[in-house]
Amino acid sequence: MTMANKKQEVPAAQIIDGKAVAKKLRESIKRHVEVLIEDHKILPGLAVVLVGDDPASAIYVNNKEKAAKEVGMRGFVHRLPQNTSQDEILKLIAQLNADKKVHGILVQMPLPKQIDSATILKTIDPAKDVDGLHIENMGRLMADLPGLVPCTPMGCIVLMKTIQQNLTGLHAVVIGRSHLVGKPVGQLLLRENCTVTTCHSRTPNIAHIAREADILVVAVGKPKLVKADWVKPGAIVIDVGINRTDEGKIVGDVDFDAVSKVAGYITPVPGGVGPMTIACLLGNTVAAACRQNELTVPHIG
Ligand code: NAP
Repeated sequence: MTMANKKQEVPAAQIIDGKAVAKKLRESIKRHVEVLIEDHKILPGLAVVLVGDDPASAIYVNNKEKAAKEVGMRGFVHRLPQNTSQDEILKLIAQLNADKKVHGILVQMPLPKQIDSATILKTIDPAKDVDGLHIENMGRLMADLPGLVPCTPMGCIVLMKTIQQNLTGLHAVVIGRSHLVGKPVGQLLLRENCTVTTCHSRTPNIAHIAREADILVVAVGKPKLVKADWVKPGAIVIDVGINRTDEGKIVGDVDFDAVSKVAGYITPVPGGVGPMTIACLLGNTVAAACRQNELTVPHIG
C-alpha cells in the first residue's frame, strides 16, 4: 500500500475511567474508616437532608446513603415533605450540628421554592459542611487554608492527576464559573500551579481560548457545546456536564465522539466525573471526622 492510498490514522484519546478511579478511592476511604473505628473508636457519620419529591434528587440521595454504608460509615437520611418550612429545616440542621455522631451534613439541592438555599447553607457548621459550599469553606479555598473542598471539583483534580501527577505550569481553561464547579475547580488548579483561564457565557471567542488549553474543564450544562476544533491535540478534557437529550440519553458538555479524536485524554459522560463526586463526599466525611477529633487528615487518593 502506498502512502497516498493509506487511510490516515486518527489517534483516539485515552478514556479516563471515572468509575474505576472512584472505586479505588472508595476502597481507600473504607480502609481509613476501619482505622478510625478500630484505633480511635470513631464511626464517621454522614447526614443527608432531602426535601421534597424530585425524582433525580431521590436517586442521588439513595446513592449517597448506599455509598456511605458500603465504606462502613453511618448514613442518616432525613426525608422531608415538599411543603416543609424553612424553620423546620433550620431546626433539623441545628440538631445535626450538635449531634456528635454526625460528622458531615449535606442538604440535597435544589430545595423547594419556599426555602432560601443560601440561608440553609450558611447554617451548616462549616466543620461538617462536606459539600464545601459554606462561605467559610469557600473563603478557606481562596486563602489556601485547610477546609472542606466541593466534591465535584475535587473529583476533577483527582482524575487529571491519574494522567499527570504534576500539573505545574500547564495552562488550564475552565468553561463555567458557578460556585458549585467552575470557580472552585479554578482555585484548585491554581493550587496545582496551573495557569488558569476562566470562561463563561459573556466570554468572546471561547473556542480560540479553549484551543490554548493543556487541560480543558467544561462545566456549563449545554450538550455537546465543545467541538473538536475547540481542543488542542493531546489535551486533557474533563467534561463535568450532565445533560439529558430528548431521547432520554445522558450526554456531557463535550461532543465526545468528535473531541476524542483530538484530545489526548477525555472523561466520558456518564462514567467520568459523576462517580467521583460521591467518592469525594465520602473522603470529605472522613476528613471532617478526623478534624473534629483533632486527628491528622489522611491523604485519600
Ligand atoms: P450553572 O450554575 O448553571 O453554571 C453554568 C456556567 O456555564 C455559568 O458560569 C455560565 O456562565 C456558563 N455558561 C452558560 N452558557 C455558556 C456558554 N454558551 N458558553 C460558555 N459558558 C456558558 O451550572 P453548574 O452547577 O456549574 O453545572 C454545570 C454542569 O455540570 C451541569 O450540566 C450540571 O448538571 C453538571 N454537574 C455535574 C456534576 C457531577 O457530579 N458530574 C456536579 C455538578 C454539576 P454565566 O456565569 O455567565 O451565566
